[in-house]
Amino acid sequence: MTLSSLRQQLLAGQTTSAAILSGLAGEIAARDGRTGAYLSHDLESAMAEAENVDLSLPLGGIPIAIKDNINVLGQPCTCGSRFLAENYRSPYDATVIRKLRAAGAIPFGRMNLDEFAMGSSTENSALQTTRNPHDPERIPGGSSGGPAAAVADFTAIAALGSDTGGSIRQPASHCGVVGLKPSYGRVSRYGLVAFASSLDQVGPLTRSVEDAARILQVIAGLDPLDSTSLEAPVPDYLSGLNDGVKGLRLGLPKEYFGEGIAPGVRRQVEAAVQALAAQGAEVVDISLPHTEYAVATYYVIAPAEASSNLSRFDGIRYGQRAANPADIPDLYKRSREIGFGPEVKRRIILGTYVLSSGYYDAYYSRAQKVRSLIRRDFEAAFTRVDAILSPVAPSPARKLGGASIDPLDEYLSDIFTLAPNLAGICAISVPCGVSAFDGAAALPVGLQILAPHLGEAMLLRIARAAESHE
Ligand code: GLN
Repeated sequence: MTLSSLRQQLLAGQTTSAAILSGLAGEIAARDGRTGAYLSHDLESAMAEAENVDLSLPLGGIPIAIKDNINVLGQPCTCGSRFLAENYRSPYDATVIRKLRAAGAIPFGRMNLDEFAMGSSTENSALQTTRNPHDPERIPGGSSGGPAAAVADFTAIAALGSDTGGSIRQPASHCGVVGLKPSYGRVSRYGLVAFASSLDQVGPLTRSVEDAARILQVIAGLDPLDSTSLEAPVPDYLSGLNDGVKGLRLGLPKEYFGEGIAPGVRRQVEAAVQALAAQGAEVVDISLPHTEYAVATYYVIAPAEASSNLSRFDGIRYGQRAANPADIPDLYKRSREIGFGPEVKRRIILGTYVLSSGYYDAYYSRAQKVRSLIRRDFEAAFTRVDAILSPVAPSPARKLGGASIDPLDEYLSDIFTLAPNLAGICAISVPCGVSAFDGAAALPVGLQILAPHLGEAMLLRIARAAESHE
């Protein structure tokens, strides 16, 4: 059931929050052994919260699953890393959690992810494997693989994830659910463990566009604890949801429909575009000329910021600490050697390199300039169109591959999701059918919709129209 329909049942007295929670616990016991979306869950404390919940609130009594890089008071927050797996408990609620609670929601369950949200498969989790509910031999996508898999597997109703370069949209696409990355500054990052601070945003993964709108409504807005959160008023995301796309101009960027896209993805995305056109949208060809630089730009800026953010994991302040250090440098080195997995180390090395004296101008400061060009591409396009349509990923979910996967191939597969983060605009993935791929009969495909900065109301309205076709 969707969050919206459960809410109606709760209000009509047909179910209770406790019944929903124990139902979920049953589903988790029945299926999560196979899917591996949950790292942990605490039914007892969720039940205690359910007792006092005010059902009249916007999310009253609804359990929401939380990616394990968002702090919830008293709960683990492993970030999928050995660094934090054993002895870290959050000493505070992230602002998004505080807002969920104030709206009556119950944070329930800690969801697997690529270590520190670095990856596109959830295979970089140091803690467990998460499988795609549509085919257990395949990845759920990532880094929010746990949240997406659980929502698709009916072991969660809705979830919060984080998106730095596609980590909400790509797993949503691979698992056949809705995933929304809000505009940069729309949602507070306070209490989200920082990966790349100029790119990170928290957003919902849900079974419907309406559910995504309901959650965004609650978590959006200014937060004095995050100086990059914006003062702009939060519009009503539900009122215009069903206004349709008649008369809207939707752009198809030619750079997003080139070579390398699996035929089934192309077919389903084109069918979704046709369906929007049939509902009265005007589809126009556009160009985002700097698209080809998005992967290189992102994979300089994101690791640079990560190398700085992750310096706080030193064996002294958080989690993992090496035994019997000879001196302080030895403590730092060995704690980080044991605590971080290979992808995180790769990012720290890359990031440190591009920020180092002699290379800073050649890489980091150049990437910032290209980032401006990418942002201007979108600004120019949005003078001509209301929104932009594209695939989310070049192919449906690949098979689990572990260490045999080439990191560069993984980075390249992020081609369609990175630029919206670099530009700070909002973006959503909506299911648009299934496709045969690489021996599998039917794997989910996502349509990506992009709208201008703070254009979430428009984004959700178009997503709703696309969803009604599917
Ligand atoms: N796949 C991208 C990366 O590995 C994006 C991850 C994310 O959005 N957190 O950096």
